[in-house]
Amino acid sequence: MNFQSTYAFAKHCDDQDSLKEYRSKFNFPQKDSKPFIYFCGNSLGLQPKVVGEAVNDELAKWSSLGIEGYFDDANPWVDYNDDLSGIMAKVVGAKSKEVVVMNTLTVNLHFLMVSFFTPTADRFKILIESDAFPSDRYVVESQLKFHGYDPKDAMVIVGPREGEDCLRLEDINSRIKELGDQLALVLIGNPNYYTGQVHDMKSIAKTAHDHGAKVGFDCAHGAGNIPLDLHDANVDFAVWCTYKYLNSGPGSIAGSFIHERHLQNHELPKFTGWWGHHRDTRFGMRDEFEPAPGALSWQVSCPPILALTGVKASLQIFEEVGIETLRSKSLKLTGYLEYLLMEINDDRIRIITPKKPSSRGCQLSIKVANATKKLFDNLIANGVIVDWREPDVIRVAPAPLYNTFDEVFRFVEILKAQLYCS
Ligand SMILES: *Cc1c(COP(=O)(O)O)cnc(C)c1O
Repeated sequence: MNFQSTYAFAKHCDDQDSLKEYRSKFNFPQKDSKPFIYFCGNSLGLQPKVVGEAVNDELAKWSSLGIEGYFDDANPWVDYNDDLSGIMAKVVGAKSKEVVVMNTLTVNLHFLMVSFFTPTADRFKILIESDAFPSDRYVVESQLKFHGYDPKDAMVIVGPREGEDCLRLEDINSRIKELGDQLALVLIGNPNYYTGQVHDMKSIAKTAHDHGAKVGFDCAHGAGNIPLDLHDANVDFAVWCTYKYLNSGPGSIAGSFIHERHLQNHELPKFTGWWGHHRDTRFGMRDEFEPAPGALSWQVSCPPILALTGVKASLQIFEEVGIETLRSKSLKLTGYLEYLLMEINDDRIRIITPKKPSSRGCQLSIKVANATKKLFDNLIANGVIVDWREPDVIRVAPAPLYNTFDEVFRFVEILKAQLYCS
């Protein structure tokens, strides 16, 4: 696409945008009664207006029906998750039965590692990426310790080459080959939260499987951002949260994927609870556990309906728009951001996110030489919310559902002004 660095061009793109009406469906934080330029949907997505109404409906139901809300004919709480699996499955490229919406992300990662990290004397190593999200790293370290291994020996980190910012697929795959029979699990964030790099899940999964290892992906930064293909990529499991690009509310309930081929394997170790029991006999309160079909059997507790209401209401927007439509706007919007940043033509700024559109989502991570948190504070003072990562990276994520070309243009003007005055 031929971009132009004029405000008129940005406005023209907004006029042509088939998703432009969606912006009005969200609540924006305000500064001096004007909406912030909010490019932080990679940390906490904005509130869809429908969520407030939907939560109020459930509150009213609780108030008027009490326990009967579980079996209320219209939208019974007892089946709340089942409906969500289908709609969530479309967002991540899975079959309904492979998806369950439950718990929170880090909790799910622990639960799924109970099933998919089953070390033996020979095969006990876990491969992760450098700059993995800290929570994922803590999960891996603590799981290793729990099984009696020292993370120093058993946690292997693959990083970028000297002088590079992102990982090379061939380096990940060759590390997997080297570890061979010792490798139990590969766990990678897709995209990486820091650089925004998207990985080739299918290739990594194939290499890991060829060497007898399991593969999991943390798609916290992928769900609602890029089209994912968890089923076809053949990964063993995946986890993601719903409060980033999926706009479901702070700390809201997360998603998990378990590949179809594992769903009938009742030998797989699993921490169970009554909500993973088959719905039809759950309330019979029998001693014997009868698993719910598919991924639903990984559920443990009765789900928090008020939080799930946010997930359901927000996902309906994704269902309506479709992830492919979102992606096509996202490619333009982020492409425009990149174009304008390059036009600044200042050696102090460098984009560490891959240049290739298929290797990134909407986020660009910008390294600003010699910057301090003062830059971030100045951006906020000028009506821009982005994300600051020590020592010198701002992560900028224009979300195609509610951000505009106009905002991208104005953001770059504000950034420029800050660079020149600092
Ligand atoms: C946001 C994020 C988390 C956060 O985990 P919670 O359990 O939701 O607090 C974990 N991992 C990655 C990769 C993330 O991006």
